[in-house]
Amino acid sequence: MPTYDYECQECHHQLEAFHAMSADPLKDCPECGKPALKRQIGTGAGLLFKGSGFYQTDYRSDSYKKSAAADASKPASSSKKETKS
Ligand SMILES: [Zn+2]
Repeated sequence: MPTYDYECQECHHQLEAFHAMSADPLKDCPECGKPALKRQIGTGAGLLFKGSGFYQTDYRSDSYKKSAAADASKPASSSKKETKS
């Protein structure tokens, strides 16, 4: 299970928490009791990468779909010619 660093935006109390990626992030600060916890980018970097990676994958799959559709609309032999010239 990944470790997450949290910092309270109210009292700046810092803590580490273990929980599953699918679990909801912590909100309530154990120090001041306010729902001001914010997950820090550090050990959670993998999660951030996952976020930006999702965008890239989405973008790529969209253009892939378009090129795949273009390829499908013409015979394989003509697309070979186009790549050569
Ligand atoms: Zn706090």
